[in-house]
Amino acid sequence: MMPTETFIEITYFIATILFILSLKWLSSPTTARHGVWAGEIGMALAIGGTLLYRGIVDYKLVAIGLVLGCIIGVPLGKVAMTAVPQRTALSHAFGALCVTLVGTSEFYLRAPNISPFMMAVLSMEVILGSLTFTGSLMAAGKLQEILPQRPITYKGQNFVNLGMLSLAIAIAVILCLHPEQMKLFPAMIIIPLIFGVMLVVPIGGADMPTVISLLNSYAGLSAAAMGFVLNSKLLIIAGALDGSSGFILSVIMSKDMNRSFTNVLFGGFGQIQAAAAGVQEQRPVKSATAEEAAAILAAASKVVIVPGYGMAVAQAQHNVRELYDALTKRVVNVTFGIHPVAGRMPGHMNVLLAEADIPYDKLLDMDNINGDMAQTDVALVIGANDVTNPAARTDASSPIYGMPILDVDKAHTVMVIKRSMAAGFAGIDNPLYYLDQTLMLFGDAKNFVGNIVRELSGGDGHH
Ligand code: NDP
Repeated sequence: MMPTETFIEITYFIATILFILSLKWLSSPTTARHGVWAGEIGMALAIGGTLLYRGIVDYKLVAIGLVLGCIIGVPLGKVAMTAVPQRTALSHAFGALCVTLVGTSEFYLRAPNISPFMMAVLSMEVILGSLTFTGSLMAAGKLQEILPQRPITYKGQNFVNLGMLSLAIAIAVILCLHPEQMKLFPAMIIIPLIFGVMLVVPIGGADMPTVISLLNSYAGLSAAAMGFVLNSKLLIIAGALDGSSGFILSVIMSKDMNRSFTNVLFGGFGQIQAAAAGVQEQRPVKSATAEEAAAILAAASKVVIVPGYGMAVAQAQHNVRELYDALTKRVVNVTFGIHPVAGRMPGHMNVLLAEADIPYDKLLDMDNINGDMAQTDVALVIGANDVTNPAARTDASSPIYGMPILDVDKAHTVMVIKRSMAAGFAGIDNPLYYLDQTLMLFGDAKNFVGNIVRELSGGDGHH
């Protein structure tokens, strides 16, 4: 029979391959479901292999952990799509807490007989783990609006924060050289715990998704460090994958919002928004009813639908699918223009539209659809605002200046479904709404789209 150790190694090896494939498959909507499966099977194998480990003396505690994990995890898996960012932050918080606890127990099991290398990775594990724990809780709290979303800044903040981080690192260095100074160890956890809170305090609720993605990266790196401590290749690889993908995603998100990475972290972005929100223009706009909108859409030959955060809030994706069907039936060419930061998390629109079974090949990236806008009869904006704001192209004083946008203002007619003239995420007015070719369709996205569909199908009998 195969020795247990070999068997565990093989499950770990397969799990590693599945994690890598999972990330690869998750990067395209057509293969994303496989990616989820690969990740889940990989994780099941990794847990299964670990449970066979001979070092486990008491399975009772493991069982209690499993039950507790399920009690917390199952409801977390069922939150609404719009709450996914804070849900993700909570998972990072739990992961990071676990890493910190493991690191702490490893330290007290081994100290003071601990090599400088081992102490270095252990320090990295607990510093990153504890700052990610409190940082992620803060991020989740801000997104859930349990904590104030607005950034809290004070003079010398970056100095204080960097000072705290440096202090924790200094303690780590001392412990590497003198592991017998065991009484310093708790400080190496407490300081980063405070630092995690202070790090997220100055960041506006709006920037939280980027921050969560960065904290994801820290959680991954701390898990990789734990892999060195526990001598587990699986943890090193999975942690490194997590660490690098989280970092890459934060950089991509910052770029798509036209913000430098340091600006997200140190800029106190939400403040600018708060100031800008005051200057609401009171110019007249043209509005239309569902009946009028249906008639315009029915007469069009090319329609581009631009979904945004409001479609997610209204959960209008299934009605949008019905609209797509009704228009395609009338031989209108319908495609979707997807902005990389539409909604509140990466891939938000893709996920919702895929849920409603809209064919993937109809979802076009900003770069692929902008060239077609001038030949588009109707751009129908559903609950999107910032990602269509032409001020990003022209107004150097705008907080979103330079952000690439979907050029819906180049279409012959623009129709915008939203409930009011209220601003979007960036808190700024949108000049698109005052253009000659723009019609505002005021209402909840789900109801309004539903009404248009009803008009279109009711109209069938007359034609
Ligand atoms: P916005 O937040 O700019 O605008 C959404 C609009 O939807 C609002 O103006 C709101 O207007 C409308 N709306 C809200 N609820 C409803 C409803 N029930 N029915 C109809 N309309 C509704 O969204 P966008 O998607 O255009 O832009 C995303 C913004 O989020 C960008 O600024 C981006 O930088 C930012 N962001 C994106 C992240 C991502 O990863 N995707 C991460 C972090 C930030 P009204 O109240 O009048 O209805």
